[in-house]
Amino acid sequence: MDPQANPALNNEAMRNLRAAWPVFQQAEMAESWAGVIDVTPDSNPVIGPVDAIPGLTLATGFSGHGFGTSPAAGQLAADLVTNHPPVVDPAPYRFARLL
Ligand SMILES: Cc1cc2nc3c(=O)[nH]c(=O)nc-3n(C[C@H](O)[C@H](O)[C@H](O)COP(=O)(O)OP(=O)(O)OC[C@H]3O[C@@H](n4cnc5c(N)ncnc54)[C@H](O)[C@@H]3O)c2cc1C
Repeated sequence: MDPQANPALNNEAMRNLRAAWPVFQQAEMAESWAGVIDVTPDSNPVIGPVDAIPGLTLATGFSGHGFGTSPAAGQLAADLVTNHPPVVDPAPYRFARLL
């Protein structure tokens, strides 16, 4: 769960960055690291209850988009936990679709 960074990919990204944005010509990489992204089979997150464990609500599996979607995902999770009308249709995100 702690992969090495890929220097070839990082160097390519720097080349592309400098080509697209000349202001970055002198920019240097100060640090590099790699990580693991959680990805569900359909790339949609899991947001909703787990029927087998009453009281447990999941909000996970954001498939590399958890920053961007977090305001809506958090709202949906809160709506489901508090039994409020959900901000969006929760069906595409239900845990049972992956069983
Ligand atoms: C390299 C990389 C680039 C990304 N780029 C983007 C991007 O550009 N845009 C975007 O929208 N998303 C991006 N993401 C995805 C985004 O980071 C995740 O989707 C988001 O952080 C998931 O949030 P989370 O709260 O579900 O999980 P996490 O952020 O992983 O939070 C889980 C937390 O639980 C803690 N934890 C785990 N186990 C335990 C335990 N047993 N007890 C207590 N605490 C525990 C962990 O330490 C962690 O702090 C990227 C991810 C990676 C790795």
